Amino acid sequence: MSPEEECLSNAVEKGAVDMSYVHSLRGDFKDKNQLGNKGANLVSMTQLGLSIPPGFVISIDAYKKWRETGLLPDEDIKEALTSLETEMGRKLGEGLEVSVRSSGPASMPGMMDTILNIGDIDQINSAINRIFESWDNLRAVEYRRINKIPPTLGTAAIVQSMVYGNRDERSGTGVVFTRNPSTGRKGLFGEYIVKAQGEELVSGAQTPKPISTLKSTMPEVYAELEKVANKLESHFCDMQDIEFTVESGKLYILQTRTGKRSGHAAVKISVDMVAENLITREEAIMRVTASDIQGLLHKQLKTPEVYHPLAKGLNAAPGAAGGRVVFDAIEALAQSKKGVKVILVRPETNPDDIQGIAAADGVLTQKGGLTSHAAIVTRAMGKPCICGAEDINIDLVTRQFVVNGQVIKEGDEITIDGTTGSLYLGILPVEDVSISPELTELMGWADGFKRLGVRANADTPGAIAQAATFGAEGIGLCRTERMFNAPERLSVIRQFILAENAARQAEAIEHLRELQTRDFIALFRELKGLPIIIRLLDLPLHEFLPSEEVSESQVRQRIAELRETNPMLGHRGVRLAVTNPDLYKMQINAIEQARAEVPANVSIMVPQVITSQEALTVRALLKGSNLKFGVMMETVRACMRAGRLAREVDFFSFGTNDLTQAVYSFSREDAEKKFLSTYLQLGILQDNPFEVLDVKGVGRLMETAIFWARRGKKDIEIGVCGEQAGEPRSIRYLHGIGVDYISCSPYRIPIVRLVAAQTAIQARSGSSQAEIRGAETS
Ligand code: ADP
Ligand code: MG
Ligand code: MG
Repeated sequence: MSPEEECLSNAVEKGAVDMSYVHSLRGDFKDKNQLGNKGANLVSMTQLGLSIPPGFVISIDAYKKWRETGLLPDEDIKEALTSLETEMGRKLGEGLEVSVRSSGPASMPGMMDTILNIGDIDQINSAINRIFESWDNLRAVEYRRINKIPPTLGTAAIVQSMVYGNRDERSGTGVVFTRNPSTGRKGLFGEYIVKAQGEELVSGAQTPKPISTLKSTMPEVYAELEKVANKLESHFCDMQDIEFTVESGKLYILQTRTGKRSGHAAVKISVDMVAENLITREEAIMRVTASDIQGLLHKQLKTPEVYHPLAKGLNAAPGAAGGRVVFDAIEALAQSKKGVKVILVRPETNPDDIQGIAAADGVLTQKGGLTSHAAIVTRAMGKPCICGAEDINIDLVTRQFVVNGQVIKEGDEITIDGTTGSLYLGILPVEDVSISPELTELMGWADGFKRLGVRANADTPGAIAQAATFGAEGIGLCRTERMFNAPERLSVIRQFILAENAARQAEAIEHLRELQTRDFIALFRELKGLPIIIRLLDLPLHEFLPSEEVSESQVRQRIAELRETNPMLGHRGVRLAVTNPDLYKMQINAIEQARAEVPANVSIMVPQVITSQEALTVRALLKGSNLKFGVMMETVRACMRAGRLAREVDFFSFGTNDLTQAVYSFSREDAEKKFLSTYLQLGILQDNPFEVLDVKGVGRLMETAIFWARRGKKDIEIGVCGEQAGEPRSIRYLHGIGVDYISCSPYRIPIVRLVAAQTAIQARSGSSQAEIRGAETS
């Protein structure tokens, strides 16, 4: 067997089949579903020749029987005890004491009871009862609820001969990790206390010393411990967390389990273990989780546990940042120009705040959910954000907010942790982002396995540069609205909309063309060969209009004309181009001019399409240009007409935000403000469909569209851009339905690369689409 195959078989090891209720630690039965993790690992370690205090395990089946009947397998226990006495050469109570320990199939550290120094059979029986009862103690129940461990699993009980770390000066107890759990560095990491039992280490009764003290006091024991660590790592092929006791200079191992680790360590350990030939590249990729990676891409609080949060809100965008409180975009801009770090605090944000958000280091809102404006914009910009912090009370007039009786004024310092949703007073120390060589290496392997293409949504040169460093293969969605929103552009676009005659309008268009050309040149310079898909304008015109009272009656009248009852379903996207082709013509022209200056691989796409006739109308504007042309699939009708539509375009890009709104007939903002949380609480919906792609509804529609699209045009390229495209479960599903690429915010790129690779690896080993889709319940 290769080392990897050996690890794989160790991971699922069961050994012999054995139906009895009591199993010796010296046996070869090591089914985790019967002995629990601790028990099965003690058997493995005994087999590896490590010194393990002898004992036996009362199985999980015995627990289940006990739960039904209240009875223990008394005869089997007595028999096992007699064998133990023979093996130890001592009788219970006469030089032999045992411990009774819990051992479940899911790790629940410290949640259940342990009873030490037991000297007679009655005590053993009541201890086993107590261990079994402790499966249902409050702590354990709560832990299982939080960690989603089924309450039906049950626990085994281990009866094991005692060893004494408190015997003399050459005795002690400790815990070591085989690698540093925060950095991943190889080598023993842990603590040791002299002349004490394990409980004293856990309870904090004595201050432990670093494990290196053992190296100086008992070098031979330390060397032995290192050997044990290596043996266990090469057996289990993962970093181990080991409990041990030294009795008069002799080392005993009491427990080993897979060690918990930081995201940073998870990446380093996986990559190092490939170099050490312990695991394969596939295995390395499978071991790292999306949240491991997520933490590495954003600034984190150094020691969050030391500080007490002022309040908690929703963890809307990950990362941590400290700065002075400002209450509006203008102040945010003014302060940041002076080099002051600021946190923008708003009841909620809207498109007018964009400049302020861009200038701020983080955003805190009192209202709004995980897909509110603030959440989406900050996530795309990679800035931390807390939304819906309902405990804060903002007064924009006195420019302060009150939180739990404390008044925070403009200019006061706060820190927000968008990863957890916690708000703190003052500026707390923050750890910088660093892309380690190991992460780069792991990502490179991931790219070799994944089938899905990974592109970024990016509208600015900065975002394109960021996307490129995170490994984007192109820009899948470049929105042009934001370019229109800048203050100096707003007046020009208003001039266009409000123009009283054709000459004034042409003038405005000409002005916009110059501005857009410059924008595109700046974007193309950053591309360095990456392809880009530019989406032509998709904003309801009314959003560009002044909201303040205007004096001229002409303007007032024009505004009234443009106002819509339901702008979401109104005059936007391609509809605007049909009635008013000049804007799209101008944008196409600006792209061509920019391309003449800086060569770039550009495609354009059109939003809100419902019929091939619209596509043809816009395509006509492209005459003489070789730009690739596609449509966004974000209306239900476009999906139903995908076969016909496919024949007129080069590619489709599903806009899953608008498509979800269309399929649900929900307006996202209203849904999140008013009723979605109730739906989630009551379990009417399992997930927020704006965060996790709704595979049963929206997904079905996409599958239908993809089927007909490929019938209409076999090699049509199909992408997905939308918030959900960066979410792990949604990525797995999109892989399965044959999407060519995903486009997401730059900060999600490494996560998507990882999950796309995991999905491809899993698909090879045959997990089905049905599994991802889940039961047909809703
Ligand atoms: P947990 O499931 O909380 O890890 P354990 O079963 O590991 O509980 O027991 C807690 C501690 O009790 C161990 O870390 C060890 O220090 C001590 N202990 C348990 N059994 C023995 C034993 N046979 N000899 C010495 N110490 C023991
Ligand atoms: Mg333990
Ligand atoms: Mg859209």
